[in-house]
Amino acid sequence: MDIRYFDNSATTRIKEEVLKEMFPYLSIEYGNPSSIYSIGRNAKRAIEEARKKVASLINCKPEEIYFTSCGSESDNMALKGIAYKNKNKGKHIITSKIEHPAILNSCESLEKNGFDITYLDVNKDGFVNLETLKNSIRKDTILISVMFANNEIGTIEPIEEIAQIAHKNNIIFHTDAVQAVGNIPIDVQKMNIDMLSLSGHKIYAPKGVGALYVKKGIEFERFIDGGHQEKNKRAGTENVAQIVALGKACQIAEKNLEEYQNKLRNLRDYCLKQIKENISNIHINGTTEKRLPGNINISFEGIDSSELLFELDNLGICASGGSACSSGDNNPSHVLTAIGVPNELSKGAIRFSFGDFNTKEDVDYLIEALKKIIK
Ligand SMILES: *Cc1c(COP(=O)(O)O)cnc(C)c1O
Repeated sequence: MDIRYFDNSATTRIKEEVLKEMFPYLSIEYGNPSSIYSIGRNAKRAIEEARKKVASLINCKPEEIYFTSCGSESDNMALKGIAYKNKNKGKHIITSKIEHPAILNSCESLEKNGFDITYLDVNKDGFVNLETLKNSIRKDTILISVMFANNEIGTIEPIEEIAQIAHKNNIIFHTDAVQAVGNIPIDVQKMNIDMLSLSGHKIYAPKGVGALYVKKGIEFERFIDGGHQEKNKRAGTENVAQIVALGKACQIAEKNLEEYQNKLRNLRDYCLKQIKENISNIHINGTTEKRLPGNINISFEGIDSSELLFELDNLGICASGGSACSSGDNNPSHVLTAIGVPNELSKGAIRFSFGDFNTKEDVDYLIEALKKIIK
């Protein structure tokens, strides 16, 4: 049975060109980048080329990119790195209620270590309120971290405005842009972003590689103690092949960004139209504007999403639920709760997220499946 994959926000399939680019670094180019002989230098050079490509996608300097093992690590490194570096200046951090667990649980860990966190509410579309943000700022606020785009409902936050508010108050601004990078244009200079997290496997590179951008001049505590890799901030022999893959994925993303966005938007809009025309009693979760081009989140009234996902899976269709049903508990998603979706509808929420490998035919197959199952 063919797999029809509508879960590109969970992870993406590696692109052929990316695999091809990384492969030599899993075989003949096995040198340690810290070694000074030829194969060591080759590996080092490959990393620095990749760094340039990642930097170019978000318009920063290559030396402002730190490679990590994943988006979650980048988030941890940013929050804890800034918090512990600045603990004598202040212990207050502002974030939102709809962040990824990598942020929320880093905050929880910081709370246990004496930091004070404000979790901003969002409105029914998932947007942070800028006035509330301003009012939450205190003399001891050291960091604001608000995600670029939400992974469940696709809402794109007013990042430039948030950065401006942070800087007016001399506060560092970090954004978890794992869902946004490669999907919408990002320019960290123009948007005045101090720190940004990204991840490889959401943009057609393998799982297990990410990066953190840190604007030059911003100091943070090192995340892994050991050797001198990543400018002394993140020790450990570099994961050369994966870094090369991330670089390639960023290069492809930069080249195709506009075309890619249009493709996702067309598929998504087509899918949404078909669902609206063929299925009754549905509710769209999140905003219809300022939303990631490849995201829909729909509640099917009176339906349990885990059952629907099970039936879809039987037909080869992959999507994900709006609740944490994977872990066996039936708690509604913290994001859907934050935007005010009632529990009954939260339980019936499904996220479909589109990617480069999807076709219109996939969508037609999905619609037929939904019609059959829901009837
Ligand atoms: C996937 C994701 C992460 C985590 O990235 P990993 O590379 O899987 O650790 C963090 N934040 C957001 C918004 C994500 O979607």
